[in-house]
Amino acid sequence: MDMEQSPSEALIAPLRSRRGRQHYFPTITDQDWNDWKWQLRNRVTTLEELAQLMPIPEGELPIRREILRGFRMGISPYYLSLIDADDPDDPIMRQAVPLHDEFIYRNVGEEDPLHEEELSPVPGITHRYPDRVLMVISNSCAMYCRHCTRKRLMAEDSIPDLEIDQMVDYIARTPVIRDVIVSGGDPLTCTTERLEHILQKLRAIPHVEVIRIGSRVPVTMPMRVDDELCRMLEKYHPLWINVHFNHPRECTPEAARACDRLLRAGIPLNNQSVLLRGVNDNVETMRELVHCLMKMRVRPYYLFQCDPIRGAEHLRTPVARGIEIMDKLRGYTSGLAVPTYVIDAPGGGGKIPVGPKYLVSYDVKLGKAVLRNFQGKIYEYHDPPPAGQLVFSDASPNGRGEPEAPKKKSKWVRRKNGTSASAAGSKDEPRGKKRAEPARPS
Ligand code: SF4
Repeated sequence: MDMEQSPSEALIAPLRSRRGRQHYFPTITDQDWNDWKWQLRNRVTTLEELAQLMPIPEGELPIRREILRGFRMGISPYYLSLIDADDPDDPIMRQAVPLHDEFIYRNVGEEDPLHEEELSPVPGITHRYPDRVLMVISNSCAMYCRHCTRKRLMAEDSIPDLEIDQMVDYIARTPVIRDVIVSGGDPLTCTTERLEHILQKLRAIPHVEVIRIGSRVPVTMPMRVDDELCRMLEKYHPLWINVHFNHPRECTPEAARACDRLLRAGIPLNNQSVLLRGVNDNVETMRELVHCLMKMRVRPYYLFQCDPIRGAEHLRTPVARGIEIMDKLRGYTSGLAVPTYVIDAPGGGGKIPVGPKYLVSYDVKLGKAVLRNFQGKIYEYHDPPPAGQLVFSDASPNGRGEPEAPKKKSKWVRRKNGTSASAAGSKDEPRGKKRAEPARPS
């Protein structure tokens, strides 16, 4: 093993990108390449720059220009280096580059399908659930995802300090808030000093128990996760980070190193994928992704159905596809690797878990659940009798003398002589069949 590699890097090394930095940016020095500020400054933001790096089909430029009028492009050199320029269906390209399909459906969808603005008591805060809030502190990202739910916010101007203070003030005067999700844009595109300033203010609020940061930086610009950032973050525990890997090819050695650094700073990492047509909407890709995440010690947390956001129609999939993928994950890989598939309800209803039906039926009165396992086999599960109504029989159906339901519900009753037999007239006893002889006392 390369002594420079962390164990998780070594495990995923075979997934190294096929195109890479040498193909797109052969003259860039290591010093620049590994400097996140250089990466941020040198994002590819125009079609002219993009056309110098990868072929754009003839006649496509005006179409793509039109798309960019609705939603900007910005791709860090690192993330761009993951794209296979020879593959028009490349899953990394589909997330980052405006393509013809996006133009066709550019007017389909909503600006704010989750009604975050309506649930906003002060600019930048969304207060949807009772005990937690979303706090948008940045409107800049290392890469602007074509499927982003907050396209409406993506202007380059940073959020003024006054607005940040208003958000902090709202949280401070709302004692039910115990969990703050710091998001954006991408909060990790802020300088370390600015981010620390905000975290300090949040930590000074006694009722804020947990701070979570939502960031795609470990995926799109992993060099941002440097020692200085980690040293700062670990002062503000309990702190969690939700990352956003969508495809196994994003799980590069650089991304693994960024995750490893955050984990060593004591920050648990959870992944929130979005199910995207032509990116990860098949079982093999999703299984490979969750396995890569597990190797990086990142917990697959949510698989989101793509929101009906304007300009992302070409990336949406039917719900049936998500259910099918979940059906082929559960049981076929470790439960720890199986995310929860959710739809963020349009209109602001919040996250609703959906998935394959494992509970076929449940009769509360009989206390009987009919279950389907991952192979489609059917099983029954029986509830315990209500508390205080337990009786013990000598011969329960499983022969171990375990607690049974009260007489009127039980298939088995105790006889005066201490033996047990099936209750006369029990509907479980086959008609016309000779009743079993009671067991003889030994
Ligand atoms: S990193 Fe997150 S906030 Fe930024 S564009 Fe992508 S999905 Fe949107």
